[in-house]
Amino acid sequence: MTATPTIAVVGSGPIGSTYARLLLEALPDARVIMFEAGPQVTERPGESVRNITDPDEKARAREKSQGPQAGSFRESLGIPAGAIVEGMFTARQGTHLLDFGGPGSAHAQAFPAAAAATNVGGQGAHWTCAIPRPAFSEKLPFIADDEWEDLVSTAEDLLHKQSAAFSDSPVGAAIRTLLDREFGAELPEGYGVSTLPVAGDPQPDGTMRWAGADTVLGPLIEPGTDTAARFELRDLTLVRRIEHDGTTVRGLVVEDLRTREQSFVEADAVVVAADAFRSPQLLWASGIRPAPLGRYLTEHHVVISTVALDAERMSALVSDEELEAELARRATNPADPVAAVNRIPFSEPDHPYSAQIMYAETPPFPLPADHPAAANRWGYVNMGFGTRKFPRVEDGATFSDDELDYRGMPNFTIDYALTERENAEIAEATERLRRAGQALGTFIAEPRLLPNGSSLHFMGTMRAGTDPATSVADPYSRVWGFENLVVGGNGLIPTANTMNPTLTSIAIAVRGARHLADQLRAAQREGESVG
Ligand code: FAD
Repeated sequence: MTATPTIAVVGSGPIGSTYARLLLEALPDARVIMFEAGPQVTERPGESVRNITDPDEKARAREKSQGPQAGSFRESLGIPAGAIVEGMFTARQGTHLLDFGGPGSAHAQAFPAAAAATNVGGQGAHWTCAIPRPAFSEKLPFIADDEWEDLVSTAEDLLHKQSAAFSDSPVGAAIRTLLDREFGAELPEGYGVSTLPVAGDPQPDGTMRWAGADTVLGPLIEPGTDTAARFELRDLTLVRRIEHDGTTVRGLVVEDLRTREQSFVEADAVVVAADAFRSPQLLWASGIRPAPLGRYLTEHHVVISTVALDAERMSALVSDEELEAELARRATNPADPVAAVNRIPFSEPDHPYSAQIMYAETPPFPLPADHPAAANRWGYVNMGFGTRKFPRVEDGATFSDDELDYRGMPNFTIDYALTERENAEIAEATERLRRAGQALGTFIAEPRLLPNGSSLHFMGTMRAGTDPATSVADPYSRVWGFENLVVGGNGLIPTANTMNPTLTSIAIAVRGARHLADQLRAAQREGESVG
């Protein structure tokens, strides 16, 4: 190994960024090169597009992130224009469906709403920034509690966690009171109705600057810092293959999507953090094909609804002056629709659901002027109850050697089905959602289960574990059998998880990065390769 180790990171989302930051801070001589298939869409690399105030600029940044569904931007992203046909389904802004329809699309009829983002910052440039901690059986069984506490706190620091965001909102507080009256007696101590922790920095005017990969990268993108001098981010650069001899990785074959030139980049270690489908796809393309790769796919299913807040119940808890002050504050930032975020966290045995309750002063869809809840002065809540999907080897992606996707990578098909056990929990969560809605006001959208893939939180496809027969990565996120190949992202989460997974995945990455740093340091001392 060279005196100055080079670590190659695939993917510029929050997880790749965690590795880049921690490795450069731990290893004063190391260099990190980060490869990202998508373009840089914000001035500051990886910033949340939600922070862009100009609506046209925001729309442009989102469209450029949509890879094969990026409309007129497509050719500038290295995607042949003629090859793509837009699908029937549309994805959330800033993302593109895996099964978008047309040549080169993945096959995901059983998981139709699954989507990804292809841009610097990954999905982390478009996310809602909710960062609850996993609890009870959601946690990783092979990490002891005291170490977990340290890992998850470090992850919260990297994301600039705010546990009391919007806690000064009187409407948010009244929503908590009403929900607590309905559910409080059934919930265990410490797992009651509360504010939802989010990632970002509150601004003096009461708005939030939402966190993205830029927040995680921190000093690496501040000109003049020592770590910035050792960090290189190459956007519009697709990693096509990991070069290895079966136990040791030597580097990456990358393609510059602007020039179509391919080159080999040598590396002492490689971190693949290219999301829950495209990371296993890259491993498969590189001939790294452990049996659990792509399998054990889970997400949390979501039952959602929208409720108009009840004037009588709300006005008993919030004065007119308080409401006016809140609405005036909100009017200063009409571009950000979220005013307060509450939750009922997952707990066992009696509440195995994660509820997210978002207050907004406008409904998420237009209501006819004569609708009884149109222009509701008290506003609305959008609620979702997340439920478990228990890991099964039958669910997951199967990669093809014969069929290529729109990027010329092995295409894949997703198999997925809900079982009786999951349907029963979804039915129970729907009942609780009804209770929550009735406690708060009047439904303007009845509870409904979103199509498979809608959570955008895809887990299990590269699970970390202690048994190579059922996991892709060891407890330190190294691909089994390789010393210097590390994987990261939601795909590593092996448990049935009901909530937003990014914090958990960053905590797992903190563990992986610390271990890799120790290994590289030891190899440096011995003047050897880590592999
Ligand atoms: P990503 O952010 O997906 O980044 C992976 C990157 O790898 C992509 O940019 C991709 O282009 C790149 N890549 C893929 N293949 C290659 C290749 N071969 N070569 C080079 N680059 C490649 N999570 C939460 O916890 N809380 C939330 O509130 C939340 N809300 C969300 C809301 C929305 C609208 C969306 C879209 C997501 C949300 N998420 C949320 C999910 C969250 O954004 C992801 O969990 C997180 O971004 C995952 O980080 P990552 O780094 O693993 O992957």
